[in-house]
Amino acid sequence: MSSSELLTLFDACPHGVFLVDLEGRVTAANRSARCLFDLDPELSLETVWFTEFLESADAQMVREHLAELALVAESGRPDPKVRMLDVYIQPEKTEGRWFEVTMSLNLGNTHTSRLNCASIIVVLADITRHKTIESDLQRQNEKLVRDLAKLSRKMREETRQAQLNYQVAGEQIQLVRDEKKLSDELGARWRSLTENAPQTVMLADRKGKVLFCNRMSASADSNAKSGKRTVQDFIPAQDSSKVRQIIEDVLRQKQNKAYEVNGIDADGNPVWHSISVGPVVTKPGERAESVVLIATDVTQRKLAEESVAKHQEELAHVSRLASMGALTVELAHELNQPLGVIANYVGGCIVAMERPGWDRNRIAQAQHKILGETKRAREITLRILDFLRRRESPRMLTDMNWLLRDTLPLADLEAQKYQVTLLHDGPPDLPEVKVNRVQIQQILINLISNAVQSVAAAAPAKPHVKITTRRVDVDGIEVSVSDNGNGFDPKSADQLFKPLYTTKEKGTGMGLSICRTLVELHGGRITATATPGSGATFTFTIPKYDSDRDAMRVRAEFGAPEVAR
Ligand code: ADP
Repeated sequence: MSSSELLTLFDACPHGVFLVDLEGRVTAANRSARCLFDLDPELSLETVWFTEFLESADAQMVREHLAELALVAESGRPDPKVRMLDVYIQPEKTEGRWFEVTMSLNLGNTHTSRLNCASIIVVLADITRHKTIESDLQRQNEKLVRDLAKLSRKMREETRQAQLNYQVAGEQIQLVRDEKKLSDELGARWRSLTENAPQTVMLADRKGKVLFCNRMSASADSNAKSGKRTVQDFIPAQDSSKVRQIIEDVLRQKQNKAYEVNGIDADGNPVWHSISVGPVVTKPGERAESVVLIATDVTQRKLAEESVAKHQEELAHVSRLASMGALTVELAHELNQPLGVIANYVGGCIVAMERPGWDRNRIAQAQHKILGETKRAREITLRILDFLRRRESPRMLTDMNWLLRDTLPLADLEAQKYQVTLLHDGPPDLPEVKVNRVQIQQILINLISNAVQSVAAAAPAKPHVKITTRRVDVDGIEVSVSDNGNGFDPKSADQLFKPLYTTKEKGTGMGLSICRTLVELHGGRITATATPGSGATFTFTIPKYDSDRDAMRVRAEFGAPEVAR
């Protein structure tokens, strides 16, 4: 190839090609190189240094490569190694671009073993596109790495969450197992407890059909074994409808109820059961569809109660005898009067009838008087007998004012002795209460007698005892006995009702204690208030008769053979 052809080729090369001396001074530049740096074709290149076109960092590296090549050249040993580096060049007028700079010694004739050259060929190949692609790839790569990192973090998080969930699920399974074990244990304990309970335990639906019953209930009724199981089979026939009603009430009101029934055992002895009925609500807020019935044999307690009641009645009886005993003188005096009158009239009649032509009418009149006085005496004895009688009919509906009027003559025996006036005040329309009349009379006589004695001891100007009746609560009665006697120390108000408490020389300390027992048997209360020196007031209440509440009390009372229903 001729020199001119070579020059043409050099100039036409699309890469920028510089020929620089060993110090980096440009000795030749082809068209592309001149275009690239906008070098005037006429410009003498002798004063141009190649590194001028580069950024300082790139220039420094190129200088190092050139210095290396200069050393190689000076050593005279050929070194075909090509020095390369990427540089970014920012021409004045055009956009900045990336170039791959290749530097190699201008070897000249390659066949010579010794190097004889004094120039370096510098080629600048435009690699901007390659760099753009590379940086795009780099960016994509980095994004990929970031996404991967994100993904891996997410996966790690999800794995951790899954592990946690797994752990929680494991714990929950364990919990369920524990709960099941606990509920199995509880169930077993409940079963054993229920089965071996000394009470009869039954589960029944709203119609009374027995869904479950324990051993005690099986032994309580033979029907249970034969499969015929309703609650009614376990209880006396007369209570059957009552139990059905109670089950309905319990389910409707969602409240426990208790009641007592009595019956006869296999040997014909009376037995008592206390039955508690409660609703079974399996989930809070749900309707109760079944009830649990627990029946406890309370026969022993009942017998003990009856025995106590009998003793109380004995005591009350003795107390009545004692109070009548104390009134014997007044009683004799009271009876003496009609008997005296009778004797007079009979004597008069005898004398009159001995005379001839006696007046038949006058004798008849005298006989009427005798009859009247006899009745009066009989009334007195009957009233006393009534009062002293040990047995009494069951409770009867009673007008308290009437009962009081019937009792006052007895109480008056003692009041007259001390010239104490008995006053009675009460509205005529009191509701009737169901009471044991003798017991209420005994309360009244005890209270009035105490009041009379207190008044007699105080001897006030107008000695009196006032008995007041009034309606309280719903159809209940309150009776107050007030006096203007000595009263008592209010601090001892509670003591007064204790047995054997007395401040009297010949007192028994039993009167108020018996009063309290009798009042409580009627479901009422008795209280005492006083102002020392000004008198005392004893008040007791008799509530409206409630058959359910009082059934047991009435049964316990002496002389009440059947439970009042
Ligand atoms: P007793 O009359 O035999 O003492 P009670 O039980 O009837 O027994 O009375 C107990 C005590 O209560 C009396 O001793 C007396 O101190 C007091 N007491 C009862 N009634 C009255 C009253 N109306 N006024 C003052 N004290 C009274």
